[in-house]
Amino acid sequence: MAYQWKEQLDRLMKAGAAYADVRHYPKDDSLFMVMLNGNMLSFEQGRESGFGVRVLADGAWGFAASSNMADITGTFDKALSNARAAAKRLTRPIRLADKEVLSGSFTSPADLDTLSVQRDFQADFLQKMDKALAQKGVSQRISYISAQSKTIEYYDTEGAKIVKHIRELFPAIMVRGKDADGEAQERKYSPPRLGKTRGYEIMKEEHWLPEAERIVRELNQTLTAPRCPHDVRSVILMPDQMFLQVHETIGHPLELDRILGYELSYAGGSFVRLSDFGSLQYGSKKLNVRADALLENSPGSFGYDDDGVKAQNYMLIKDGVLVNAITSRQMVTEANERAGKQIFTSSGGTARATAFYRTPLERMTNISVDPGTDGTLQDIIASTEKGIVLSGDKSWSIGSNREQFHFANDYAYLVEDGQVKEVVRNAAYSGDTLPFYNSLSAVGDESTWQVQYVPNCGKGMPSQVMQLGHGVPVCRFDNVKVGE
Ligand SMILES: [Zn+2]
Repeated sequence: MAYQWKEQLDRLMKAGAAYADVRHYPKDDSLFMVMLNGNMLSFEQGRESGFGVRVLADGAWGFAASSNMADITGTFDKALSNARAAAKRLTRPIRLADKEVLSGSFTSPADLDTLSVQRDFQADFLQKMDKALAQKGVSQRISYISAQSKTIEYYDTEGAKIVKHIRELFPAIMVRGKDADGEAQERKYSPPRLGKTRGYEIMKEEHWLPEAERIVRELNQTLTAPRCPHDVRSVILMPDQMFLQVHETIGHPLELDRILGYELSYAGGSFVRLSDFGSLQYGSKKLNVRADALLENSPGSFGYDDDGVKAQNYMLIKDGVLVNAITSRQMVTEANERAGKQIFTSSGGTARATAFYRTPLERMTNISVDPGTDGTLQDIIASTEKGIVLSGDKSWSIGSNREQFHFANDYAYLVEDGQVKEVVRNAAYSGDTLPFYNSLSAVGDESTWQVQYVPNCGKGMPSQVMQLGHGVPVCRFDNVKVGE
């Protein structure tokens, strides 16, 4: 098979292509099981296979994909003719940044591939979780398993040969109830990184049952809690909220294609300008953010991206200053040309496609905040005069260029004079991205740091869903507008 791909790639080069690559997915399996109040609400199994060819010719990209292995030659020809057709409307010839040509392989760490585990066995687990959640105060119980298992073979005309075996598992449990005013409240748990595996071995009752007890207890506290006050105070974000704050207001605005204006029609742009790199004070000196695709056991770690560039770990924000972006081979060249100077030295290795029939885009890897020196959660609470601890993402709304945000949380409690006070319901906070990060006044140590996963980051037209991670500590921001 490998020979056949190489022969086809050589043929395109002889026909005048400047570059081409092919991604072959011998298998791409998925599973989604949702249990609602003890009944299987959804049970979906998917299986796809095929290949996608990307060709650069006359300065333009052409792409074609097929699941018909009897039409490999025709699909390669179509990709080339698509490039030639696109070249007629070209405004800027595409050039790819240089890369190191590599051959290698990557396998997600998992002993037990979830797709190989009997479905009855998994349904039994969800049933057990459902029973554990069926308690006073709970009107709706949801438990689910979402999993993927795929193999991707990559070849390009520069000589790269890469094989990836990607296994993912995203389980969660959730409870909902009604408070005294008839408003819905909820609490959920989806595990952060647990040890070193992405396999089904994390589905252990001894781990999940205490979490089920906890979310029911916290829901009941919220149901009878007073409303969150409307005022200005410090917010202490737990990792299960901090990850989403980082995702929406650091990750997305630092995607270089978005900065260059390519995502405007679908999910909005970025307030970041090319002239900001190296000088913009994105946050306080305590803010250190990295794109870390080498983090062990996370969906944002994948060995090699879909440009065939090796996964990397590099700083995006250093001591509060913006220094780099989430980049690919094509966009770094275009950005440097448009800026008239070299801002980016090479691709950050973040180009990924969601399936064989989609082209790679800049996607977040693991966009992580380094742990700080402000101690444990207790230490941060003890040094807070007037604050609120916020946990669990309930809803969010983000400005079209990521310059403002509003988040609501599942679970919150007040802090006064360094002491934990009462739980409150309907907690929410809002702010402007840059002033908010510049008000970062405490960053928790290693003991507060967790890797949270995002199973469904949406981007692109046609739409692509991607999986990634965020390693984040507990963080405190001052003078934030809090309320419902
Ligand atoms: Zn996203």
